Amino acid sequence: MIMYLHIDKRHMKRFSLINSLLLAVLAVAVIAALVAAWEPIERLELKLYDLRASLTSKSSLTSVVIVSIDQESANRLGGWPWPRTYFAQAIHQLQERGAKQIGLSVLYAENDPNPGLWEIRDIIRKIETDPGLLRPGQITALFPQLQETEKRQIRKAIVSSSLSALRNVVLPLLKEAEKRIDSDTALLSALAAAPNVVQPIAFILGDGGAKRNPPVPDYLQRNSLPASGTERFSTSDTLSAPLPEYARLAAALGHINALRDSDGIVRSDLLFIAFNNSLYPSFGLQLALKELNLSLHDVRIEENRVILGDRILPLIEGKKVQIVPRTASAYPIVSFADLVDGKVDANAFRNKIVLIGHRHSMPLEMLPAQPVGMLPSVDAIAHVVDVVLSKSFVSRPAWAVAAEASVIALLALMLAAFWSARLQLALITSLAILFIWTAISFSLFLTQGVWLKIAHPMVFFALALGVLFIRTALVPQRSEDAVGSEFFDTTDFRVRFAAKTDTGMVRDRNEDSYCADKHLGLLAVADGVGGRASGAVASRMTADLVTENLKKGFPDVSDAVKLTRSDLSETTKSLGMAVMAANKSVHATAELNPQLRNMGTTLTAMLFDGNRASIAHVGDCRAYLIRHISIEQLTDDHTVAVEHSKRGLSEDMAQMRHVLTRAIGITPDIVPDVDELTLTDGDILLICSDGLFNMVSDGEILAVVKSTGDPFRACTRLVELANSNGGHDNTTVVVAYIEKRR
Ligand code: MG
Repeated sequence: MIMYLHIDKRHMKRFSLINSLLLAVLAVAVIAALVAAWEPIERLELKLYDLRASLTSKSSLTSVVIVSIDQESANRLGGWPWPRTYFAQAIHQLQERGAKQIGLSVLYAENDPNPGLWEIRDIIRKIETDPGLLRPGQITALFPQLQETEKRQIRKAIVSSSLSALRNVVLPLLKEAEKRIDSDTALLSALAAAPNVVQPIAFILGDGGAKRNPPVPDYLQRNSLPASGTERFSTSDTLSAPLPEYARLAAALGHINALRDSDGIVRSDLLFIAFNNSLYPSFGLQLALKELNLSLHDVRIEENRVILGDRILPLIEGKKVQIVPRTASAYPIVSFADLVDGKVDANAFRNKIVLIGHRHSMPLEMLPAQPVGMLPSVDAIAHVVDVVLSKSFVSRPAWAVAAEASVIALLALMLAAFWSARLQLALITSLAILFIWTAISFSLFLTQGVWLKIAHPMVFFALALGVLFIRTALVPQRSEDAVGSEFFDTTDFRVRFAAKTDTGMVRDRNEDSYCADKHLGLLAVADGVGGRASGAVASRMTADLVTENLKKGFPDVSDAVKLTRSDLSETTKSLGMAVMAANKSVHATAELNPQLRNMGTTLTAMLFDGNRASIAHVGDCRAYLIRHISIEQLTDDHTVAVEHSKRGLSEDMAQMRHVLTRAIGITPDIVPDVDELTLTDGDILLICSDGLFNMVSDGEILAVVKSTGDPFRACTRLVELANSNGGHDNTTVVVAYIEKRR
């Protein structure tokens, strides 16, 4: 028997150990994913970040207006790239309408490729060197669009045969045409007239390891800070700047490199990029500095923050500033074509920061003469300006990862601690932890701009539930959870019986047992008590031992005198002694096995013989007799409540009312209550554990057994009722229909 117990115990230990190991591995894996920003979970995390960002103020606190290079403009102005003259016109329009700062996020690193202009310049050069080219007859063909007065002047010059006169007429015409189509010069003059235009530079990010120190042009020097080498900003060794004549006219130069998250959205800004021992600020930062009347030299860079006057920008991992993506409606949007055509309200740009650019991120190589990489949407630049000016900074405090990992570990602990014994408690505490963490995260984000991750704990919880439920489904359950309708005969009666036991809705382990031995005519229910799994051991062992003892018989009947009544049949005495002997064995086993110490069980057993049913009873399993239309409880519960009320004692021990006063296995000797019942045709006998009678009323029990007529259907229906009423405990029920033998 001890061998049998050891096997059973080991099986149960391995089950919980595997669960704990799985939870630990899962927790470590999710924490590693958190630290490494593993993309699949990080994407979900970023969506939840956006959700929080969307709850922040919807309207921009700053005065940013976006001039969008959009499809409508392309329809009206022609396909991209547009002549630079359009940008020259746009800048003129913005100057006239009082724009405070202009951010032109289009990079012109080379001269405009303009074959028509090159051809005119070639003609001018040739005429200047050889006026003889201006022969009669060729001139009018050269200028088909000439006005009549101009034609007269040319004819006059030809008639006078004065080549110099001809040259003086033709060359100004050519130079005027050159000016009209020279868009570089047009943009240059627009920039010269506008001292408030911030222009872009772009880097190819790399390791910056080339260690070259080429002379840096003055316009770049003015727009950089010396690097100490300890700032650990992203580095580059390739830079693309606007044409020097443009760049020298810029109010400031800022880089437009954007770091995109794995889902393609820009949620952060590389505040500085290190290049050639200098730090170059971002486009958005430069615009914000201009708006704040600060210069780059007012900027102080510290370990994890950048200070601009009274603003302290927290830097997150990668030395970036986290930005808050706002909805499309956050900034007024004006179509570029409307601006160029002068169709915009005169006050639309007054004292505003105007950003000109594409609203969708696009590869830089799609733009002429620009480096490989990505151009951020102008919205992302607007977000940077907005974050700095409205001080809506988002930070990841140094303790964030530790706190997030602790929440995951706490969830693992809660599930490990309660999953086996208290499933509902495990689910409720875990959900409560998740809810509280989510509430803290949202609250800190909205009030302090602190970003704590919530997707990782959620993913851990979902995975852990999946693993544990699958494990629970795969672990084999006891197959002996029911006996279908069977029968045995005594000399007078046929006993049709069935049995069913069920774990219930709350417990994850069934510690009840039953036995139904048709050869002995024995039916019994036992409900184990004790730590860990020992209750199940005690109940199963007792049911088996009573059966075994009855089969063996009792050569020594000395114990029978302990039974309180002397008028008992031999059958009843045997049953009583079988229970007493079982108690001795269970107690001895518990004493020998430290893991089983204090295990015990209740037991109610019925042994059928002739026209009688003998009953032996210890604890709070019950036997009921249903006769005609009444139900009668045949056993008294051995609980504090019942014993005290029987003895007329006060009931000041209400909290102990369910505590057992007698149980098998706890003491070396025990005396069961024994009784006998004379059977009549049509009687129904029922034995059950407290899981049934605490959940289902006597009236319901009566209705079920009377209405079904079949013992197995009655058992099944009663277990279903107990579970639908809450199923707080294991439920075991044995039903026997007694019929007179014909
Ligand atoms: Mg119970």
